[in-house]
Amino acid sequence: MPALLRAVRADITTLQVDAVVNAANTSLLGGGGVDGAIHRAAGPDLMQACRLLGGCPTGDARITRGYRLPARYVIHAVGPVWRGGCSGEAELLASCYRRLLALAAAHEVGSLAIPSISTGIYGYPIAQAAGIAVSTVQAALPAAALLREVIFCCFSAGDLAVYENLLADNGA
Ligand code: ADP
Repeated sequence: MPALLRAVRADITTLQVDAVVNAANTSLLGGGGVDGAIHRAAGPDLMQACRLLGGCPTGDARITRGYRLPARYVIHAVGPVWRGGCSGEAELLASCYRRLLALAAAHEVGSLAIPSISTGIYGYPIAQAAGIAVSTVQAALPAAALLREVIFCCFSAGDLAVYENLLADNGA
C-alpha cells in the first residue's frame, strides 16, 4: 500500500513518529528555528553525535538517533539558502528530499515527519518549496516500501494551508 501523505500544524519535537527531519545547516552544529528546537528537546547527546558527523553538504542528509525525542531517529537535511531562484535552489531542495527519504528507507522508518525545509531563515518561498516537497516525496515513495506515513509538519497556519491544497490537488 502506498504511504499516506498528510499535513499537520505542530511542533515537530512532540510528534510520535519513527523519525523526524531537521532543517539543518552544513555544519550540523545547531542553529535557530526548527534546528534549535530539535536540539533543545533531544538534549546534548544529539550535538555530540552531530559533531562526529563532520558536517553535511547542501542538498544532502545525515541520520542520528533521536535521544530524548519521542522519535527514534533525526534525519538532518541541509536545504539551500534562497538566492532568488537561479542558483540551483530547486534541484538542491529536491535532492534534500530524495536523500532524506533514502535514509528513512535504509533505516526501515515507517512514519516520518518533515518540516518545511529552507522556508524559515533560509528564505525559500513557501509555495515553491512545498510544491517541490510534495512532488519529490511522492516520486520517491515507491523506493521506500516500509514507509506508511509521511507527515508534513507545518509551524504556521499559512504553511499548513499551502500543503493541504497541494495534497488535495495531488489526490494524496
Ligand atoms: P531553514 O533554515 O531551513 O529555513 P528554519 O528552521 O528557519 O529552517 O525553518 C524551517 C521551517 O520550520 C519554517 O517553516 C519554521 O517556521 C519551521 N519551524 C520552526 N520551529 C519548528 C518546530 N518546532 N516544529 C516544526 N517546524 C518548525
